Parts: sequence; structure tokens; C-alpha cells
Amino acid sequence: MVIIMIIPITVPFPKDWGKGDSTHCYLLKRGLTILIDAGLDSGDNRTYIRRTLKEVNGLNIDYILVTHGHLDHFGLAGYLQRETGAEILVHELDAAALKDYTKAISWFDEVYEFAVEGGYEPQELEKIRCKMLIAIEMMHGPDEVKPFKELELDLEGITLRSQNLPGHTPGSVGYTLGESIFSGDVAIEGSTVVGEFRQEMNSLQKLKSFKNIFAGHRKTPLSVADIESLEVHFVNRLEEVLRTVRRGMKLRDIVSSIYGELPEESFIRNIIPIRQTLSYLKYLEEEGYVVKNGPLWIAVKESL
Ligand SMILES: [Zn+2]
Repeated sequence: MVIIMIIPITVPFPKDWGKGDSTHCYLLKRGLTILIDAGLDSGDNRTYIRRTLKEVNGLNIDYILVTHGHLDHFGLAGYLQRETGAEILVHELDAAALKDYTKAISWFDEVYEFAVEGGYEPQELEKIRCKMLIAIEMMHGPDEVKPFKELELDLEGITLRSQNLPGHTPGSVGYTLGESIFSGDVAIEGSTVVGEFRQEMNSLQKLKSFKNIFAGHRKTPLSVADIESLEVHFVNRLEEVLRTVRRGMKLRDIVSSIYGELPEESFIRNIIPIRQTLSYLKYLEEEGYVVKNGPLWIAVKESL
């Protein structure tokens, strides 16, 4: 029997990003020491991850494997690279964000355009953008990142492989070890699509061939039954968006009809629902269920 030590390390979100939220990172040890994802960079998190790694492994890391180009997964990678000399590996389609952290929020520009047209105040959106840029300003990018198309690492006879799981981001990958996969944000308990609907559904499908699905947030590991209920959740949300726009609605009204009023305290919790709703609307538009007329999204079919 092959034994691999998997040590979960849960890195909290700084208060501004979302109180109570966190990122699950995983330290693997067998021949090599590998950290999968690194969490958000902040003064407190640097102290926390340094102390935790020191306790379990004396600050030795050979590789930091990043599941995708979002700051809550790679923010600390640059700091840790300097502390440990680890190599940072990421899929080539998400590598730009690690070289220039502002690229990790390039999606914001597109959301901004639709949101202003859809009834949001430019000032409130600028406030969110500002908070994100300030947070990025305090982070410390890596000196070197190695992008890959496909990855295989030998851990004393067992192979760790990358598995492409696009949708959440174009370069989202899982890292597989036998029947286990570290899946980043492809499946988050209770959450829905933020990127490309079709691709996200396909990637969920791929997760179902694994027994242990180690997620990047909330419940982990997930089971195949959890993935199946997420698939249902995704489709239910799609139907809900379609029902909501029946008579024609602006983006802001669609978002508040689905999510209620957005909370003030976290900029991420303010902007993500807009982004998610937009992902669904775009899919519905492409599939001919919805048309967009100026700021109004209007359903042209009753149901899916
Ligand atoms: Zn993500």
C-alpha cells in the first residue's frame, strides 16, 4: 500500500475579503514536499502559514502547485517562494495572473461595464475596485513561475498529474493522486458558476470519477453525491435566472431578486453575485433563451 501524508492547512480570508471564509491548502509529503495552493497574502497570514509549515515540515517545500489564477489560491505563493525556495507551477492559461497580480482581477472590467449599464452606481463599483487594488498592492508576487500545459511529478512510485478542469478560470486544473483529486474551486459546496457555464458543468462531470475530492473552500473532501447535488444546484440557478427575467429586467434587479440585498462588509461578497448572475445570463443568451435589449435582459423561452 502506498502511503502519502496529506496535511490540510486552512488559511483564513483577511476581514475585508470575507469574514469566516477561508481557503483550504494541502501539504503533501512523499519523497517531495508539495503545497497545493497558498491562500490570500496578508501580514497575519504570512505569520500563520510560516508557523504552521514550520511545525509540520520545518519550512521545506519543493513545489507550490496552484490550482488556478485567483488571489485566494496563490496570494501567498510569492512570500513562500522567498521563504522556502519552492518552485511555483501553474497551468499556462492562468500564469499571467501570478506574474502580475492585477491580472487576477481583470474580470472586473467586464463585470463593471455590464453592472453600470444594469443599474449599479459607478462610485460603488469603483469603491470595490479600489479595495481590491489596495489588497493586491500589499501582496508580494513570486520571482519566478513555471507555467505548464500538462504536469506529472513522481512521488516515489506514485504519480501526481494535472487534470484540466476549465470553466471557473480558463487554466483551472485539479491535481490527481490515484483516486483523489485536489480540485481548487471547480466544486464549492453551495456555490454556483462564476465563469463559463458549459465548461464548469463539464469539469464537474470529470470530478465524479474520483473518490476523494479535496475542495478549495468550505466542505472538504466532497463526495460524488456532493458533486451531483452541485450539478442540480447549477441547473436550478439557471432556471431561476430564466424565470426572473421573464418580463425583462436590469442586471441589478435580477441580482437582488436572486440574492436579496448584498451585504456591505465584504467587497468579494458584493461583486461575486453580479459576476455569477452575468455568467448565467450570457449562457442563456448564447443558447437563445434570453435576449439583451439595451440594459434589459428579456426571456424569449419559458423554460429550459
Ligand atoms: Zn477561484
